Amino acid sequence: MASVLFINPMSNESQKILKENVDLDSIFEYNQELVDTLSHIGEGILDDERKFPNSYGKLVLKRIEWYFREKNDKDFKTSEYSYFFNESINSFDVIAFHLCSQAIAFKYNLSSRETKLFLESEQRIIEERLSRVSNEIIENLINETLNELLSNFTYLNWNDILPLIRSKKISLKNLLLYKGEIILDEDEFEEKYYTEMEDWPHRRIEMAFNRLVGHKTKELILTQLIIENTEEYLKNIKEKLQRIQIHPSIEKLSNEIAELLDRLNDKYSKFYGEGGIFGGDEEIGTLNKNAFPPCVNNTIEGVKSGNRNDAIVLFLTSFISYGRLNPQVFRRDTTTKISDFDPDLKITTEEILPIIHEAANNAVPPLFEDQPQEKINIVSKLGFGMHDDIKIENEGQTKWYTPMSCDKVKLHLTNLCKPDKVCKKIGNPLSYYSYKKWLIKNKNKEDDE
Ligand code: SF4
Repeated sequence: MASVLFINPMSNESQKILKENVDLDSIFEYNQELVDTLSHIGEGILDDERKFPNSYGKLVLKRIEWYFREKNDKDFKTSEYSYFFNESINSFDVIAFHLCSQAIAFKYNLSSRETKLFLESEQRIIEERLSRVSNEIIENLINETLNELLSNFTYLNWNDILPLIRSKKISLKNLLLYKGEIILDEDEFEEKYYTEMEDWPHRRIEMAFNRLVGHKTKELILTQLIIENTEEYLKNIKEKLQRIQIHPSIEKLSNEIAELLDRLNDKYSKFYGEGGIFGGDEEIGTLNKNAFPPCVNNTIEGVKSGNRNDAIVLFLTSFISYGRLNPQVFRRDTTTKISDFDPDLKITTEEILPIIHEAANNAVPPLFEDQPQEKINIVSKLGFGMHDDIKIENEGQTKWYTPMSCDKVKLHLTNLCKPDKVCKKIGNPLSYYSYKKWLIKNKNKEDDE
């Protein structure tokens, strides 16, 4: 019988597991109990030791790898990670969740792509686990999990699940509302609508309730509440880390997560990848994050000072769009449009804009929260006029803004320019990018020079 803990890693029961089982000094050590449990589950991992996480640290990395690959790898096989959906792994996985939360909160901003990836992975794990629970017990499990989650609320208002409504996963008209309160419990339903159902037999009330409040709605709401609690948890960890020193094992884990994400990005991501050579005719390839100059990385990681808007709207927008679509712009010396390289604008919407939006979210304060009109300015700098969205019919209404030179960055965005040794050889961040890609492709050349 699946327990609440299997769905909610922050349930009351999890505290006991954490107190009794976590020794931070040993999270990278071989864990016989974990190995025995996984061997017993067996499925999909016994043929290759690389698939077999034998310590808590490796289990955390597998959690991230599973979700990343599911999202990006067309040859992905769930069976390699199916132990995550077997209840025997429960207490190990709860610990892995909490270790991962600590490492993510230590290393990344709350609005970073990495934090989002972690939250999305938790959401997918819950969905997948619920989808595998048998019909006989699903109702009890959902009700128990929801009851525990709702014990902190006087009542649940529709405002409390705004992200679900905004994402259109739930529509207000599909919720059973009483003066703004969401009704998810049959007794409460009976109490609130007592006068209308006074003469009804119990069976009829039960049927009406089940028709009005389906499983799916409850599942979506409980998942949303767990994700909101996880966000709050990450925030609390971050605040605590300002006062206390991080444990070296968590620091090590956060570095291993970063390295894993770099490897996965290189291998599978549609945002970043390898490609392009310095010199002759550079090929247009996916973006290679490892070749970005310091000023660009500093912008993506989060601009904290007064020049936030220019850094994102003027500097990063042009760098990322030209870096991805027309890195040879200064050599070609011809006026170009985005659609010359990206006719259906798929690359622009699926690769370029997400990176710009990531930088906007990471900025302090996040750019679009206090200045949503800057989204229009970004569209304009890409050459699509002053509009909310990128549309081909608007292209040409404004000019596709070309990347700033290093001199301009140094003058206007002083705090972003932190030159490294590659910077000495170039005069424009875009040239840095081409040169560094070439260096990466021809490994060790940088050190030889
Ligand atoms: S020197 Fe140029 S490329 Fe290097 S960090 Fe400064 S602005 Fe960026």
